[in-house]
Amino acid sequence: KKIVIAIDGHSSCGKSTMAKDLAKEVGYIYVDTGAMYRSVTLFALRNNMFDNHGNIMADLLESRMQEINISFILDKETGRPETYLNGKNVEHEIRKMEVSGRVSQVAALGFVRKALVEQQQRMGKDKGIVMDGRDIGTTVFPDAELKIFVTASADVRAQRRYEELKAKGDDADYNEILENVRQRDYIDSHREVSPLRKADDAIELDNSNMTIAEQRKWLMDRFKE
Ligand code: C5P
Repeated sequence: KKIVIAIDGHSSCGKSTMAKDLAKEVGYIYVDTGAMYRSVTLFALRNNMFDNHGNIMADLLESRMQEINISFILDKETGRPETYLNGKNVEHEIRKMEVSGRVSQVAALGFVRKALVEQQQRMGKDKGIVMDGRDIGTTVFPDAELKIFVTASADVRAQRRYEELKAKGDDADYNEILENVRQRDYIDSHREVSPLRKADDAIELDNSNMTIAEQRKWLMDRFKE
């Protein structure tokens, strides 16, 4: 019987790597909800919706939410889902610091969350899905059969994000990344609408000292239970 697997946690804790691996292994759909908030942020950036202080002009964004269409399409070579915004592949662009530095304020807006949560619930209605984010176990799928809450020290997480950006050939400054990771954790856990928190029935995993292979095995064991 197919189930819903909710994987939440702090920024850059390796949630998506774990979630992607598990989905592939068990033949489930994988949905990266962070990519959806990032895509809305990219849309806002491209349409000059941030004022001179770098703050989102929420009314402007709200009036154009209908124009935003986010989808995931499997890459032919890697077999992994990539993010499309209005028909264009934005998988690489949404990971850049320009977006990372602004996404948490966009994700704090109630109308943005409402629209994306509805889409996420539609994507998971037939189950057989692994979804990662911040509020999956608490808000999107409170009845998910398996909930995981991942955490790791801020240093470890910044180091991982740094190596990820470097590997793609993007500019990466460790201190800037560490600052961004801390700032997003703060905004994500203090916003009014569905703040980041562990669901009461989620299993917690601190993966600071675990290899990818160990994390994969740990998650697979939870799935089999
Ligand atoms: O997972 P990722 O780090 O790519 O997410 C980027 C940002 O999107 C988070 O820092 C958070 O502000 C927002 N987000 C959210 N709810 C989710 C997923 C992501 O608010 N379910």
